[in-house]
Amino acid sequence: MDIKALIRDIPDFPQPGIIFRDITTLLRDPQGLKYTLDLLSEQCAPLRPDYIVGMESRGFIFATPLAYQLNAGFVPVRKPGKLPAAAYSQEYALEYGTDRLELHKDAIPAGSRVLITDDVIATGGTAAATAKLIQQTGGELVGFAFLSELTFLKGRQALPDVPVISLIEY
Ligand code: IMP
Repeated sequence: MDIKALIRDIPDFPQPGIIFRDITTLLRDPQGLKYTLDLLSEQCAPLRPDYIVGMESRGFIFATPLAYQLNAGFVPVRKPGKLPAAAYSQEYALEYGTDRLELHKDAIPAGSRVLITDDVIATGGTAAATAKLIQQTGGELVGFAFLSELTFLKGRQALPDVPVISLIEY
């Protein structure tokens, strides 16, 4: 199945010059959604994760069914101030300014195997910041899985040296 054909390109969103890859058209397609989730779990299974970490908010969409399929737990990484219990916080650079991501301190037991999942890897800043949060927990990062990769931004180079899975490339 052609996953890319189900993703809609929106020019000049959220700013002029950016082509936004809109996955809502893939998510609403019953066969497309099933195929994508099955392929993702097939490729991630050999990494044997105990926890799938997904980043707010589109990461949640893929991380949770992946966790279900792989008999793993789902752990959210959220924007600042959203998590109710004690959390680690990691700042990262945006094109203009900085942002933060947070993770519950007790979410990942030391030594457990962790896979980070998001819809898109662009510059890699979001995924690299999430990896730093995992590092603080003492969990073992075993890989990254993305639905799509904007290869021209070379986001992989910002990530630690573990397997990086992406289903489609732009
Ligand atoms: P990065 O931190 O530059 O790698 O950007 C990745 C984050 O931005 C992810 O959480 C994505 O959801 C979001 N993102 C960047 N570009 C796109 C896009 O074209 N479509 C959907 N999400 C995007």
